[in-house]
Amino acid sequence: MLELDDIDAGYGGARVLREVSVWLPPQSVVALLGTNGAGKTTLLRVASGLLTPTSGHLTINGKDLTGKRPHTLARAGVCHVPEGRGVFPTLTVKENILIQAAGGSLDEAVERAATAFPILKEKLGQLAGSLSGGQQQMLALARAYVTDADYVLLDEVSMGLAPVVVDEIFEFLGRLAEDGRALLLVEQYVSRALELADYVYLMNRGRIEFAGEPGELDSDRLVAQYLGAH
Ligand code: ATP
Repeated sequence: MLELDDIDAGYGGARVLREVSVWLPPQSVVALLGTNGAGKTTLLRVASGLLTPTSGHLTINGKDLTGKRPHTLARAGVCHVPEGRGVFPTLTVKENILIQAAGGSLDEAVERAATAFPILKEKLGQLAGSLSGGQQQMLALARAYVTDADYVLLDEVSMGLAPVVVDEIFEFLGRLAEDGRALLLVEQYVSRALELADYVYLMNRGRIEFAGEPGELDSDRLVAQYLGAH
């Protein structure tokens, strides 16, 4: 279980997260939804060690890892796919995959990445920066796949992509979940996120205002209130 308990966090003097508790059990899909600027990205940054909370605890499988650096969190099984993809544009597709690979042979990592998204196999020698936006996102997700991370944090991975690519990405997320990874999903495609999710948190102005199963959401009212017209 990845547990964020009673987290306060912010930037400089600006407090963004207020007493936030979010749990990501193993092999579950948890959607984190909310208005722009609610603090969703900030929460993922705390969960992957990019931002140290001012109070509260980050615990993974019972171990308190509050304040630990990102590489320690990565070793504990956390992989963060940030908004804006986070691939290395001046490295090739293959190099992007290899630097992320967990144990095992490097050829195997490339093969696994190609099972995630077959198109990547045709692009191995190309610079990541020369790929289309959708292909870069696929590469970012394939990198998360080859890490073997148990807890995958996904920040708006479908943003700005063509509907057909969004379909492909959600299909992959479904497979990632079936593969036994826990997913913490920040998404603008609310209905799609809810289809996949076992549990959902709604965030507003740095606080969790709803936590429950998707079926408990009065979707008309809550979605209208928090999320506009999706
Ligand atoms: P969005 O959907 O717009 O990405 P979000 O829910 O992910 O929103 P955050 O990106 O976590 O929200 O931002 C929460 C608040 O923190 C916002 O008010 C934002 O302006 C502020 N903020 C985010 N990053 C920084 C930063 N690096 N320095 C200062 N303030 C920041």
